[in-house]
Amino acid sequence: MIRINQLKLPIGHTTAALEKKIQKALYLQNQHFTYQIRRQSLDARHKEDKKFVYTIDVKTDNENRILKKVHDKNITLTNEKAYCFPKPGPAPLHSRPVIVGSGPAGLMCAWYLAKAGFAPLLLERGEEAYLRQQKVEAFWKNGVLDPDSNVQFGEGGAGTFSDGKLNTLVKDTFGRNQEVLKRFVEAGAGEEILYQQKPHLGTDMLVGIVENLRNQIQEMGGTVRFNAKVTDLIFEQDKLQAVKVNDQEVIPAQICVLAIGHSARDTFGMLYEKELYMESKSFAVGLRIQHPQSMINQALYGEAENPILGPASYKVTHTCDNQRGVYSFCMCPGGYVVNASSEEQMLAVNGMSYQARDSENANSAIIVTVSPDDFPGNDPMAGIRFQRDLERKAWEAGKGKVPVQLFEDYQKHQESTSFGQVKPCICGAYTLTDVRKILPEEIGDSIEEGILAFGKRLPGFDRPDALLCGIESRTSSPVRIVRDKELEGSKKGIYPCGEGAGYAGGITSAAMDGLKVAEAIARKYSIPSSDA
Ligand code: FAD
Repeated sequence: MIRINQLKLPIGHTTAALEKKIQKALYLQNQHFTYQIRRQSLDARHKEDKKFVYTIDVKTDNENRILKKVHDKNITLTNEKAYCFPKPGPAPLHSRPVIVGSGPAGLMCAWYLAKAGFAPLLLERGEEAYLRQQKVEAFWKNGVLDPDSNVQFGEGGAGTFSDGKLNTLVKDTFGRNQEVLKRFVEAGAGEEILYQQKPHLGTDMLVGIVENLRNQIQEMGGTVRFNAKVTDLIFEQDKLQAVKVNDQEVIPAQICVLAIGHSARDTFGMLYEKELYMESKSFAVGLRIQHPQSMINQALYGEAENPILGPASYKVTHTCDNQRGVYSFCMCPGGYVVNASSEEQMLAVNGMSYQARDSENANSAIIVTVSPDDFPGNDPMAGIRFQRDLERKAWEAGKGKVPVQLFEDYQKHQESTSFGQVKPCICGAYTLTDVRKILPEEIGDSIEEGILAFGKRLPGFDRPDALLCGIESRTSSPVRIVRDKELEGSKKGIYPCGEGAGYAGGITSAAMDGLKVAEAIARKYSIPSSDA
């Protein structure tokens, strides 16, 4: 196969133009060839001449001969190995693997174990996606929170009500990234996610995709149960014997994958009591900022709207005078700020979008890293206490509604009383107030300094009527459930997995970690007998 890198075409090009360019690059003339787009990224440095940059794999006859002819460092022979899931190992497995949590990590782990014949049991505390969606929409409307089915919990995990960005910074030596993206495509996503630089699935797509993944798992012999919260783990001599569901049902288990996400604070508490080895870890906190999407498009594309490119996204960072780093995170073009709380009388926000990304506003978290030095105490649960304290303050500031403040009032430490030109795009009730008082002083100051610095790079970022909402406190896990080289935790049979375990951040990296854990289990254990 021949790989062509750096193939550039104007953004409005046709398929015929792409094929012609391939032919020209390889001097193919009338020779038959097939091709696959491996990557498409955008070069918008020259706003009047924006280009797509492609990596293309081409199959044709006499590839070696063609290569000798072209003499171009961007054209090479490639021999990529196909991804390979390991064959079952020798260790006896007496009961089906139990997976806790149906987020991207748990779903992918269950999918691959089911495919390999392990008939896993997937336990999810929340409701199935369709019912969960109704619960979440009711919460945004009337404020009644279901602590087990909300934006964080339920089928598909935190990834379901999300912006559905699928890009990841995780290095992909083994082909797991393409594997999990292929699973999303098979479950209903468009093929373009396999090659786009910034692939995206909206919340409306994700609900159907996670339902399809669940059906596939069941068709391959797995079992998926909802409203099934794991409330205890039963060990004998540090070896897992069983899991307890909803404080009642005991299910024998030799291995259990903990793909519980970063918000299952009650479950972290249970694991801590069970003396599973955990550490507190750094994460980041801050606020969500909203601007008109057209303003962001203008800054990045040189035009307020571009139907080919869709809404623009940004990533900005700044090091403050106090040496804290402040940066944008989980930017949602054409999205909504959502009330993403999962505990009573505490409030956390996040960002989501629909597939069309067509809301008026761009939003992004502007966050500052906090480390165990900032937390109250030295135990593994200290970061969770820090988060809860901020979320309580956010709840109080908005009296249960999402607290909102204009940037100019934020700078003056005063309550906002009316909106400017930026109108809020928020799912859930909101109220104007003083958001800054939620934050520790140093973090509040860092965010102000960051926004002013970002205004120098993206004109209008620091506009007086930009809207700030809080608190963004669930950027990544405050805890790491430490695992060894074989991905097992400090007690035998426990496999910490995904974002909650501290080994992933984001949908795709959590899904890849789920696959990695499935591989570790398959490599070690034999398939349990069907009556296990
Ligand atoms: P989770 O998705 O959190 O799943 C954990 C699951 O475990 C949950 O369903 C929970 O109910 C279940 N669970 C917990 N405890 C128990 C228990 N005791 N018993 C049974 N079940 C239990 N990431 C991106 O990459 N791109 C984005 O655009 C993006 N946008 C986001 C927008 C929002 C609003 C939110 C909240 C998150 C967003 N994220 C995004 C982050 C992403 O969703 C997470 O990184 C990812 O879902 C983590 O996957 P996970 O499987 O490790 O955990």
